[in-house]
Amino acid sequence: MIDPFGRSITYLRVSVTDRCDLRCVYCMAEDMTFLPRSELLSLEELDCLCGAFIRLGVTKIRITGGEPLVRRDVTTLFRSLAARLGSGSHGGLRELTLTTNGTQLARHAEALHAAGVRRVNVSLDTLDAAKFAAITRWGRLDRVLDGIFAARAAGLAVKINAVALRDLNEDEFDAMLAWCGSHGFDLCLIETMPMGEIGAHRSDQYLPLSLVRSRLRRRWTLAETSYSTGGPARYFDVAETGTRIGFITPMTHNFCETCNRVRLTCTGTLFMCLGQDDAADLRRVLRAGADDAALEEAILAAVARKPKGHDFIIDRCRDAPAVARHMSVTGG
Ligand code: SAM
Ligand code: SF4
Repeated sequence: MIDPFGRSITYLRVSVTDRCDLRCVYCMAEDMTFLPRSELLSLEELDCLCGAFIRLGVTKIRITGGEPLVRRDVTTLFRSLAARLGSGSHGGLRELTLTTNGTQLARHAEALHAAGVRRVNVSLDTLDAAKFAAITRWGRLDRVLDGIFAARAAGLAVKINAVALRDLNEDEFDAMLAWCGSHGFDLCLIETMPMGEIGAHRSDQYLPLSLVRSRLRRRWTLAETSYSTGGPARYFDVAETGTRIGFITPMTHNFCETCNRVRLTCTGTLFMCLGQDDAADLRRVLRAGADDAALEEAILAAVARKPKGHDFIIDRCRDAPAVARHMSVTGG
């Protein structure tokens, strides 16, 4: 699948639920309204749509949410998608992975590994229990740490994702990098993006990663590397730890020119860009009884509309988000 700007689309992110057991302050308002369950695609329907994307050239699928591990029987989907994993030499799915807040990871880690998952991204914005409770509103740090270590024990490579938040965790990145290094985890920092109403001013939370990186360089030796996980992060080797640190900078550095992904929501809506509203309703196509060819045609028509990039500008987002939907609809 090649989009109008010559970008090859090989990466599908699938949000399997918009629900979550946490309420991170940069992601959701505390009193979020979620979709009625009747709107959701079944796991079989999601698998069927993923199959169409794989036939069209998708090689990597990331399951996300909301919190993907709160969706009932989600391991069934991991198993059915993992059955599509191939060697990669003749195309087909090469990687199946997930992004999770880690709260349910302890009980799912072994099943995920058994299904064929080898890497997991866990979102963890702080190592301070009180701050963790404040940022997530409802979360407990020890549960997430249990999940992280259960994942590692099950054989999953763990990457920690942290959103950089002014005043909230900006004094912690040295400690987080040291902690990740001591456990062999890569760390990836993310700039907060103006998505959805959160009942607070985004510009009060926003912290440019250019500033964070120059502060980190006072203590750590960071050497730029060509390492990539197929995502937008720019990685640096950390000489002192032997691990890596990545920076996802949608605000300070637009990464759209190398965008290789599209996003499917739990209702079968396909978003071609995280920061734009145009979408394709694949549920309607699927439920109208489309055969494989018709489904693939609908996906190709959507990819042909993929826009050049997002228009996130934080200063314009003090009072209104750049897009109305929350990050939890598409899962980042
Ligand atoms: N619940 C899972 C989790 O937290 O990992 C998966 C979904 S969550 C929406 C995916 C990622 O998006 C998380 O790493 C989260 O920190 C990040 N995120 C959420 N809202 C964001 C925002 N407004 N800007 C930047 N990142 C955001
Ligand atoms: Fe839930 Fe993830 Fe959003 Fe936090 S970032 S509220 S864990 S969906």
